[in-house]
Amino acid sequence: MPATPAWPPRSAPRLFVPGPLAGGCAVTLGGPQAHYLGKVMRVGIGDAVVLCDDLTGEWTARVAQAGKRDVVLVPETRTRPREDVPDFMLCAALLRKPHFDMVLEKATELGVRRIQPLLTRRCVADRLNPERARAIVTEAAEQCARTALPELAGPVKLDALLRGWSGDRALFFADETGGEPAAAAFTAHCGPAGVLIGPEGGFDDAERAAVRALPQARAISLGPRILRGETAAIAVTALWMACAGDWRSGG
Ligand code: SAH
Repeated sequence: MPATPAWPPRSAPRLFVPGPLAGGCAVTLGGPQAHYLGKVMRVGIGDAVVLCDDLTGEWTARVAQAGKRDVVLVPETRTRPREDVPDFMLCAALLRKPHFDMVLEKATELGVRRIQPLLTRRCVADRLNPERARAIVTEAAEQCARTALPELAGPVKLDALLRGWSGDRALFFADETGGEPAAAAFTAHCGPAGVLIGPEGGFDDAERAAVRALPQARAISLGPRILRGETAAIAVTALWMACAGDWRSGG
């Protein structure tokens, strides 16, 4: 064992818990989180657990009690403040469940600030279970060591989204019928951004016209191939992070 072991260990479990967390103020976890810590990760008294609350940042906590139903943790040190999340809003039409689940997970890993599920005329899926969706983004945030959760909005219709679009936030419209090359558009228009991705069947002509009529909208192309909705959502997010988001600053 090294004389000064890295602490907390990289393998320490990470969890989002209700906040605000404060040094020395015990947190009691029950339900699935207690099961995860006790039965899956087999934590014992004195073990380190990393806690985030989406408010104060990241804390290293110690297990004070590990019971059958409850685990008590005491935050000791704040190891990071809540991160500054790039102002990128992913407006993605609902897709069939496994595909939209993937969008939720990957958008979280890629660092989006807000996920806005959309209902459009050609949507096959028309609902999203909010608890399930919240669980997917929370687990993804824990897995990739985010200290901030993405905001997850309830599904809205496309016309409501357009009506409410205000200010100088660009709305990049991923249009498989053609547009400005996405990387060039993102590089040229740094600043608050949203990206619009259609469902399995794409946007219809009336929707396309309504989007293009919005002053902040800019049609972008993601290349010569037609991507599936989930591929388009993930690819466009990665590209925005590289051109205008926090991939520019290195690790
Ligand atoms: N209308 C298409 C499928 C839509 S693909 C069809 O059925 O043939 C789903 C969504 O992904 C599209 O609405 C668009 O927002 C995005 N998309 C897919 N490929 C794209 C590309 N090459 N350029 C821009 N957007 C694309």
